[in-house]
Amino acid sequence: MAEELNPFKIAQAQLDEAARVMGLDEQAHQILREPMRTLEFNIPVRMRDGKTRLFRAFRVQHNDARGPTKGGIRFHPKETLDTVRALASWMTWKVALADLPYGGAKGGIICDTKRMNDYELEGLSRGYIRALWRFIGPSIDIPAPDVYTTPQIMAWMMDEYSKMAGHNEFGVITGKPLEVWGSQGRNDSTAMGAMYVLREAAKYRRLNLKRATVAIQGFGNAGNFAFSLSRKLFGSKVVAISDSNGAIYDNGGLDYDRVLEAKEKYGRVQAYRGAERLTNEQLLELNVDVLIPAAIEDQITGKNADNIRAKILLELANGPVTNDADKILSGKKVFDLPDFLVNSGGVIGSYFEWLQNNSGYYWKADEVYRRLDEIITKSFRDVIAAQEAYAKSGKRVSTRTAAYTIAVDRVAKAMKARGWY
Ligand code: GLU
Repeated sequence: MAEELNPFKIAQAQLDEAARVMGLDEQAHQILREPMRTLEFNIPVRMRDGKTRLFRAFRVQHNDARGPTKGGIRFHPKETLDTVRALASWMTWKVALADLPYGGAKGGIICDTKRMNDYELEGLSRGYIRALWRFIGPSIDIPAPDVYTTPQIMAWMMDEYSKMAGHNEFGVITGKPLEVWGSQGRNDSTAMGAMYVLREAAKYRRLNLKRATVAIQGFGNAGNFAFSLSRKLFGSKVVAISDSNGAIYDNGGLDYDRVLEAKEKYGRVQAYRGAERLTNEQLLELNVDVLIPAAIEDQITGKNADNIRAKILLELANGPVTNDADKILSGKKVFDLPDFLVNSGGVIGSYFEWLQNNSGYYWKADEVYRRLDEIITKSFRDVIAAQEAYAKSGKRVSTRTAAYTIAVDRVAKAMKARGWY
């Protein structure tokens, strides 16, 4: 049978597995399998050539039992409603695992940002908010950046919302530039959080990060900062990096500044000179200590999971590992750290930004990183403790399922207390 690659089906199956392991109440399980609210709309945008084009867009709010929903907006040519539904439910688990007072949401627009200029992107971003503004707000649903969306896009969106509402509302959206009250440290908080998780994972598995080799799939916000931070914080050697066009590999280590230059000048990391060229698939199978998928979903599947040779698999993207791959990986020695733990630094940074917007008092960068470290390190330890507790009672569960049981339990308890079941 062909493998299930629909991310929403994958997300539901992950929940089903956690529900089985923890003996979740069936009514709670049914509520959590489906998103609370799904919005789909079409946005007309006047393009540079004077013609209007229609863009399909989504926002899915999965569950708000623990607080307003939270999650990014993706601009992607292959966006689907089911992907957004999956990503929204993963946000619910992500914020619950970090114990933030939020629920989960996600948005998406089908568009190709590489073929759009700033004028068109601004029109699309503002159009999205005009269609959505009644359904979002600092105590309803708070968007943020994700794949192919930037701080500038967040600033336009915040501005459009403020115009619709009739007053400034900085806390409606996070990941904004500092000039309009973004937070110190938010830009690299996703990758920084992942580095704190990596530090703890390496301690737990007794891996010396100073001598470690690292391969990173993706050179967006998360992949880019993961590259510079793993060098800076641990002295690890990044031997491979990719973007959507392909990968480069040098066993002696890649030079960050030159990768950045290749990307900025020529739009692709393969413009880097003197490294071997690989495909994205080949990068995943390299014999490295740490593999960091930092691009998009469904990258490690039933087809290639057996070829993964890394010791630590740090899931920085959302949904990079399918359920078939999960099963194969758990039979191997790979220490697989689940996405909604590893990349939770992004939304933790967003939470800090929202707190600062709501109070009007702004923190220094050190404060942001210190608190981020505290929260995410606790999450890592909670997950390991849950996994070890299951093992003691004779149940072997993956780190992903262990993390799910913690998150699902918190959301289910909130729903119970509120009388939803
Ligand atoms: N898009 C990021 C994520 O998937 C951040 C979400 C947020 O900050 O709300 O976690």
